[in-house]
Amino acid sequence: MNKAERFFAKTAAYRAVIRDREEGALSHSYLLICQDEAWLRLYVRALAKLIMCEKGGLCGECRPCRLIDKEAFTDCDFYPEDGEKISAEMIDRIVSEKCYVKPLESEKRLFCIVGADKMNVTAQNKLLKTLEEPPANVCIILGSTGDYSLLSTVKSRVKRLEIPLFPSSVIYDELEGRFADKEKLKTVCDLCDGKPGNVEALYADDAASRALDECIRIFSEMKKSPDIARYSGKLVKKSRDEFLAFISAMRLVVRDLVFIKEGVEDGVINKERAFDLETIAERYNEGALLTISSLLGEIAASAENNGNQTMLADRLLFALLEENYRWQKL
Ligand SMILES: [Zn+2]
Repeated sequence: MNKAERFFAKTAAYRAVIRDREEGALSHSYLLICQDEAWLRLYVRALAKLIMCEKGGLCGECRPCRLIDKEAFTDCDFYPEDGEKISAEMIDRIVSEKCYVKPLESEKRLFCIVGADKMNVTAQNKLLKTLEEPPANVCIILGSTGDYSLLSTVKSRVKRLEIPLFPSSVIYDELEGRFADKEKLKTVCDLCDGKPGNVEALYADDAASRALDECIRIFSEMKKSPDIARYSGKLVKKSRDEFLAFISAMRLVVRDLVFIKEGVEDGVINKERAFDLETIAERYNEGALLTISSLLGEIAASAENNGNQTMLADRLLFALLEENYRWQKL
């Protein structure tokens, strides 16, 4: 199994498809929801292999498994191809021509559309009829990072599978052997928002330590209300993934600060920044830190659901300034 397949194999989605296979009840269409965009295509491939494998699972050895890995199996098409964009014409080509070509060497023909949430309404409507009355032996896999842009008529006709966000410890255990610096990997796993597909980039990019620097700087420098506008401007420029990584880093910093406040130094994750953290901890009341911590949880959830980043950033910065003051007055 490749790296994404090992995570896939841990999910209820994987077990559901194995069950469908064993019962001879594979659906004619699946919607694979996976917030881990970096690995979305890998997960879709894994699902395709699971459906087409000649040995009942992700054997990696049979002809479909080997060829699907390279997206080169004749009975399994992947869209979009390199450099292509998902378009209504592309969907039209699939549903009005390709769907009616008989499989060449297997019992099924599989069509995998990666990034199905990028289909516009015209494209989705074109697909709808095929989802309603699929030609015999055709199976359609829609891979998507979310489902809010999909029509409810599309959603109601596909079997939904979900790749969940994984706990940091599960990601660490699975990837441990692949990275030299275990401490750094541990921090990166905490920062990757449950998406193992983000780990490599975070590790290579040293984004983890930059995110940590940024959090410490904000905590150290936020003193007056004009500071809110200054930092808000920076936070708003981040992409959603960068913003989420920043919020995760912030949560770890606040957790560390609470540990320091409680005198549990062993619990501190960012030990190499202990001096900075202790300096910040002196300025903050523990009650304020706990309030900020629960606010960060809300902000992370809201950011995952495409909440307004400007408002979320302002809420956080305002709380950093005000909560401490509020608690000191109590
Ligand atoms: Zn196989």
